[in-house]
Amino acid sequence: MKLYNTMTKRKEEFVPVEPGKVKMYVCGPTVYNLIHIGNARPMIVFDTVRRYMEHKGYEVNYVSNFTDVDDKIIAKAVEEGVSAQEISQRYIKECKKDMADMNVKPATTHPLATQEIDGMIEMISDLIQKGYAYDVKGTVYFRTRKFEEYGKLSHKNLDDLRSGNRSLLVTGEDQKEDPLDFVLWKPKKEGEPYWTSPWSEGRPGWHIECSVMAKKYLGEEIDIHAGGEDLIFPHHENEIAQSECCNGKRFAKYWLHNGFLNIDNKKMSKSLGNFFTVREIGEKYDLQVLRFFMLSAHYRSPLNFSAELMEASKNGLERIRNGVDNLNHFIDVAKEKEVTQEEKEHLEKAQALALKFDEAMDDDFNTADAVAAIFELVKLSNTTANAENSKAYLQQLKEKITQLSDILGLITEKAEEMLDEDIEKMIEERQAARKAKDFKKADEIRNELLEKGIILEDTREGVKWKRA
Ligand code: AMP
Ligand code: ZN
Repeated sequence: MKLYNTMTKRKEEFVPVEPGKVKMYVCGPTVYNLIHIGNARPMIVFDTVRRYMEHKGYEVNYVSNFTDVDDKIIAKAVEEGVSAQEISQRYIKECKKDMADMNVKPATTHPLATQEIDGMIEMISDLIQKGYAYDVKGTVYFRTRKFEEYGKLSHKNLDDLRSGNRSLLVTGEDQKEDPLDFVLWKPKKEGEPYWTSPWSEGRPGWHIECSVMAKKYLGEEIDIHAGGEDLIFPHHENEIAQSECCNGKRFAKYWLHNGFLNIDNKKMSKSLGNFFTVREIGEKYDLQVLRFFMLSAHYRSPLNFSAELMEASKNGLERIRNGVDNLNHFIDVAKEKEVTQEEKEHLEKAQALALKFDEAMDDDFNTADAVAAIFELVKLSNTTANAENSKAYLQQLKEKITQLSDILGLITEKAEEMLDEDIEKMIEERQAARKAKDFKKADEIRNELLEKGIILEDTREGVKWKRA
């Protein structure tokens, strides 16, 4: 299996640090809002990497954090007049729901920054003791220049960085020894959440949390560190500096970064306001369509979001599901009999296509070609399967299609179709709940229907529904 390593800028053979095991860390979201589909890209692609590694027989320890202390969370809490914790807890819950709806497996561990402050204080103390960090009036900075390899991931040169950075010095930062030094700990401002430390009552910088959580849950040297390409610099560069100076070891063997999800060829982001939340997309489509859309491109390429591509993804997913649906009907009526010579030959072709799938995935997770291999399998099934086949043949074909789809996290079974009258009944229940101001129940009913592929639309003429 080859994967592209941002550190070396080439595809490398994957050799785990410890045989049979994969230790993988993926930087997670800052939780102050519903996640948008740009944030969903790393979740889906690295969940797929994990699933493929598991398919290859590796035991994967997958860690992904939630950044639950941050300026944006605090600002939102002030805006709503609630605690920062209430904001982060709310959006962690919502994020986990979105992940489940996209069929993203929960991580082995989802650490929270606020639960790991002791570890951060310990690592910062260690860095100070080793001369890699210093305290100025309660703020602790990392002494970037002391780490000679700084810039090795982003392939930036320290002197270029320095001249570019000089003009960026903001007030209050002139206390740094060097413009390149970054914050490990900062004192609280009035009304902000804080923790007691040897330097000040305050909170950690963003970068230190990942170094600490990766070490605690995976160890000092991990196999794969991943995230969106915007994290290469400075976030991952800083994580490397902190971890390698503290532990005296290489931090991660392979660095994987996904390309941006764009809209009109611009990065989708909260700050530009050009985003769709996963929730919004989920109101229009089964989120499996979103997953299929993400996997239709290579994870390192930019991907432009458009209604046309979503429609194409919907059709693509449907093609696979229809294939499996047909097989299910044939399996129901087929006879238990010996697999014929002709069927055996078809199964050999199916096996060859499964190998083609693996070859695509072995080549730096080429999911587009992997999906193409599934399409070929579906075609083989559509052109050869019928009610006269042996049950075993049909079952084996179906197993191949569902197994490969599952590696990509794609669910091939069609949701059981609901009867119109059952849908109407649930809509009535929802209306009754709304009348009684039980909005939680009303939302639950809406979600339950959505999971069954029924989309509700509240219009002036009343509630309308359609099948996704
Ligand atoms: P954030 O909450 O902004 O720190 O982002 C969480 C994760 O989503 C990081 O791995 C980001 O790199 C990634 N991300 C944010 N926006 C996009 C985008 N438009 N396309 C792809 N990945 C993104
Ligand atoms: Zn991180």
